[in-house]
Amino acid sequence: MTTIRTATAEQGSAARTIVSRVNTGLFIDGEWTDAASGRTADVVNPATEQTIATIADGGAQDAQRAIDVAAAHQADWARWAPRERGEILRRAFELIMERQDELAMIMTSEMGKPLAEARGEVAYGAEFFRWFSEEAVRIGGDMRLSGDGKTRIFVTREPVGPSVLVTPWNFPLAMGTRKIGPAIAAGCTMVFKPAHLTPLTSFALVDILMEAGLPPGVLNVVCTSEPGDVVGTWLASGKARKISFTGSTPVGVKLLEQAAQHVMRSSMELGGNAPFIVCEDADVEQAVEGAMVAKMRNMGEACTAANRFFVHRSLQEEFAGLLARRMGSLVVGDGVADGVQVGPLVEQKALDKVSELVDDAVSRGADVAVGGGRPQGSGYFWEPTVLTDVDPASDLVAQEIFGPVAPLVPFDSEDQLIQAANDTPWGLMGYVYTTSVERAFRLGEALQTGMVGINTGLASNPQAPFGGVKESGLGREGGTFGIEEFLEVKYLALPRT
Ligand code: NAP
Ligand code: MG
Repeated sequence: MTTIRTATAEQGSAARTIVSRVNTGLFIDGEWTDAASGRTADVVNPATEQTIATIADGGAQDAQRAIDVAAAHQADWARWAPRERGEILRRAFELIMERQDELAMIMTSEMGKPLAEARGEVAYGAEFFRWFSEEAVRIGGDMRLSGDGKTRIFVTREPVGPSVLVTPWNFPLAMGTRKIGPAIAAGCTMVFKPAHLTPLTSFALVDILMEAGLPPGVLNVVCTSEPGDVVGTWLASGKARKISFTGSTPVGVKLLEQAAQHVMRSSMELGGNAPFIVCEDADVEQAVEGAMVAKMRNMGEACTAANRFFVHRSLQEEFAGLLARRMGSLVVGDGVADGVQVGPLVEQKALDKVSELVDDAVSRGADVAVGGGRPQGSGYFWEPTVLTDVDPASDLVAQEIFGPVAPLVPFDSEDQLIQAANDTPWGLMGYVYTTSVERAFRLGEALQTGMVGINTGLASNPQAPFGGVKESGLGREGGTFGIEEFLEVKYLALPRT
């Protein structure tokens, strides 16, 4: 039976002290304020189930004020020099890194991931600011003559305009910086709604941006327990020109419908159902190493998480044995405690879902190689779990698990494998383990996903285009593509007389 490692009294109180310094209001026009309704909401630590902060709970009235402010500042902000916008991001990058430990502590307290992973996310999230600080001064255009030589075709880029940013709870810093970074670089003002489960990291980020010189009114933040009211107000306002959303596919679909009313530019980073493929010629130990990262990063609560392990039948036993041993030896507990490798899930609902998915797979004949249950004690913990011979028709394989559970499905032929791997409405991430370059390309090209990791369990990189195909989304974040999402192309025709 897995035991939960708890934090010492000193670790707990150090975390509470840091969290208590975070501003907890709405942030509109450069000021922290209460919600117009006076409503508040609690933020809970998923490792202890204790309330760690009480925040302003915004509504439609606050949302309207936020978008009015963002719209009023758009023209001014667009005139700022690209270098100055870039310098703000660069300073913010440096401030984030100076406060890496503090931000990691806030993140672990509200979201649960182990401190070491939280520090890693802080560095990863900060990198988007450094990258886009460099992209701000590289916004380009084009000039050419029409074929008949009569017209100069002059193409430039402008900020798309006030942008609605909505982020999920699983990467509380990086999901924000991936959107705020390019929006600042491009010259867009913003209204931002972080997830209600993990708002504190975003609030700390707001103060860092202001300290770095972001002018008031450019970034406005409203957290809420009524996301439909707040985001709905923004999308219906007619003042927002862009939505960038990260979250689940059903919510993304709803927001696209609303955004269509004003024909808004839309970027959607939605759910995934990543296949993790271990071919017969794979280096099994390397594959297990990669599987640990692809599955267990963030307790499995990542859109890129390996969700279905297709293992060649000849390797299934060896792979399952090694993976189960590694999974079974992980230290589960409060993320601020020493040596913890696996934190809790984010909330009770998430735990219930994982529990249902595992029970269903087991009732359909899957074997539990390790884990499979909930450890005793408080906190939303689930044991690192490996299931073998999982029925491909199980919900565990068909749905996004978002937990530390690895279902193994054996395969025999490559054709059968490709068919099964692509048999899902999602297409975000895929992983392929093989020692053949030819097979790596063949499978990499055959997978209907926006990203493929070849002999690696981690592909996310601020310098690379992140995003999915099919129902995993629209557009790309990061890389040279990320800023394009916040820019509109303008063409000026100048006749040559
Ligand atoms: P979610 O329920 O869709 O929530 C995402 C965001 O949308 C949150 O800020 C949420 O607010 C808000 N929201 C919820 N209902 C809304 C509505 N009716 N109108 C407007 N906004 C609404 O997703 P989640 O459960 O938090 O996050 C997990 C999902 O995100 C997974 O599917 C995962 O794959 C996906 N994800 C994708 C990527 C990617 O880049 N592709 C990255 C990370 C996560 P509340 O906080 O109030 O619920
Ligand atoms: Mg939710």
